[in-house]
Formats: sequence, structure tokens, C-alpha cells
Amino acid sequence: MNDVSDEIAHNLRIIQARMQAACRRCGRDPHQVKLLAVSKTQPAAVVQAAVAAGQLFFGENRVLEARDKQDALPALGATMQWHLIGPLQRNKARMAAGLFQMIHSVDSLALAEALASHHDGASSLPVLMQVNIGREAQKRGVMAEEATALARSMALLPGIALCGLMAIPPQTATAEAARPYFQALAALARQIDAQAIAGITMRELSMGMSHDFEVAIEEGATWVRVGSALFGERLAAPGDLPSTNKGDNHV
Ligand SMILES: *Cc1c(COP(=O)(O)O)cnc(C)c1O
Repeated sequence: MNDVSDEIAHNLRIIQARMQAACRRCGRDPHQVKLLAVSKTQPAAVVQAAVAAGQLFFGENRVLEARDKQDALPALGATMQWHLIGPLQRNKARMAAGLFQMIHSVDSLALAEALASHHDGASSLPVLMQVNIGREAQKRGVMAEEATALARSMALLPGIALCGLMAIPPQTATAEAARPYFQALAALARQIDAQAIAGITMRELSMGMSHDFEVAIEEGATWVRVGSALFGERLAAPGDLPSTNKGDNHV
């Protein structure tokens, strides 16, 4: 594992430095931007190496894979968090509510209700609403014009706390080309916040991946979801969709 551990520690330091530089460029406090290490398809030992290098937050896109990985790891401390970033079926909501500290991919009231009814913690489960910001037929997420109504409905559910938006923009040739999508998601969050809906805030923006996280930070990201830049290229997992659907695989 040593070579792999060294490489992950090295990649982590580079990503952290790039995140800080992006914050400096746009005058943001680096503490406002958190790195979600996307460990999907990576074995538990790789997660452990990242933890050893100081990484605390991990993103998975399949519930069962995350459960198996959590089971395979020793107790890693209360500060570590697992976030679900992939599509969630309602019949796995109970399991997901028990495994994850945040769900980034809530895209329907039915799913929000299922998560709310299964969450039995003392505090509410933080969730983000996934928005189909590029209006792509093959992508999940609500359309921007539906977001405020869904936020109003979610605000009424005890058990979950809507705290922001998430998007997977269309694949673009350059990071710069993704900027308008990040701007649109940030603008939508401000628009929802302006409604002053009781019980919700739009303080979190989950946007930006390996190839465009710096641009996302410049546009207000509070969570960047970085996989391949940290862990190297992924091997295709069974059931993975073609790369145009990257990040939108079924659980
Ligand atoms: C896989 C995935 C990522 C990470 O993608 P990279 O390009 O490897 O950084 C981010 N977000 C979601 C939703 C994903 O499924």
C-alpha cells in the first residue's frame, strides 16, 4: 500500500493547495470550501490511506458499496463523514439514512419523505436538492423552475434539513465552459433563499469535480466532489453507464 498511500497523500496536498489558491483568487475563506473525496469503486484500503493523509469527508454513489466499505474499515473517528452523491431508490432510503451524514442527491418529494420517515437521529439529516442545471434528458435532478416548490415541501418534513443545492453540469471541454452552470446553480440558491422559507437555508453548494473544481469554487461551491484527481482513474464498475452519464449511475 505504501506507494499508493504516498501518491494519495501527494495528490491530496496538491488538491488542497489548488483549492486554497482558488479561494485566494476570489477572496473566499478557505474554511468555507470542503473537499469531498469521491471514493466510489475504490477499495476500503484506499479510503484508509486518504484518512491517514488527513482527509475526513468521503462521497459514494452506491448505498451497498458504501455499506460494505464502511463495514470493512475500523472505526475512524467521529469527525469522518460519508456523503451519498448518487441516485437513491426509495427502498434504500432507510439504509442510506443510517449510513450517510449527508445526502446530495435528493430529487423528488417522495424520496425526501422516505428519508425523513426513516431518519431516527436526534438531529435532522442534512440533505441537498439535486438540480438538473443543464436540462439534460439523461441526467437526474429537478428542473430549476421546480426547485422552489420542492424546497417549500421539503421544509415541512421533520427528520431532514434541506441545506443547499447540488448539480452535475454537462460535460464540458474546458473547466471554464462549466462556469455558467455553476453561476446558474448559485443564482438559483440565492433565489430560493430570497423566499425566506422557514426551516431551510441554501448555505451549501455541492458543485465541481476533478476537472473543474477551481471554477466551481470561484462561483461559490462549498463542497467540491473530487475523485480521479485524488485517487487516479477509476476502473469501470459493473453497471456503469457510458462517460456521458458520468456521475449519474444507478445505485
Ligand atoms: C464520480 C463522481 C464525482 C467525481 O468525479 P471525478 O471527475 O472523478 O472527480 C463527482 N460527483 C459525482 C456525483 C460523481 O458521481
